[in-house]
Amino acid sequence: MPAGPDASDDMLVRLLVDRVMEHPASERDIDDVQSQLGRYPRGIVAVGARCACGRPLAVVTRPLLPGGIPFPTTCYLTGTRAVRAVSHLEAAGVMRELSESIAADPVLARSYGRAHRLYLAFRHALARRLGDDETRIASVSAGGMPTRVKCLHALVAQSLVMGPGVNPIGDLALERMKGEFDPAVCRCETGTVAGGR
Ligand SMILES: [Zn+2]
Repeated sequence: MPAGPDASDDMLVRLLVDRVMEHPASERDIDDVQSQLGRYPRGIVAVGARCACGRPLAVVTRPLLPGGIPFPTTCYLTGTRAVRAVSHLEAAGVMRELSESIAADPVLARSYGRAHRLYLAFRHALARRLGDDETRIASVSAGGMPTRVKCLHALVAQSLVMGPGVNPIGDLALERMKGEFDPAVCRCETGTVAGGR
């Protein structure tokens, strides 16, 4: 999606929320995510991005978890390979480098600010559809936005769920890790699952 005026950003958010609401997570998705995370994924709304084999890469989680717990990380990275590849980038010091780039480059900073606003708009639209109260997290996005890079996993998850051209830092990270992780190339250890994918 190209950077554009607010009207096209509103449209982008509306389309994303429609897609999420129309394709709720299946039992199988929840089982897959549970084995990826090693815990039951509470409040999962839908799989927001999938590996070429169909396994979940990132999930969309409701703004208010069952039990009334606010959950700001609406786009959450779950794919085992993806999580590992991002951790490798983080360990290599990429977060500091990218934070410095944002501070030094007004165009990048503006684009990163838009990613923050899109994150909030996406969650806000989701909260309205689901009837979730988001007042305790209303201005909190994820990953250090809008000015810093604190968690690349969250930023990459946004890029995967909302598509290229939304989060410039998530996009950069994805580009850098292509040799280790690429959503278009299945490298799942267990291979493809026969049927239903
Ligand atoms: Zn795969």
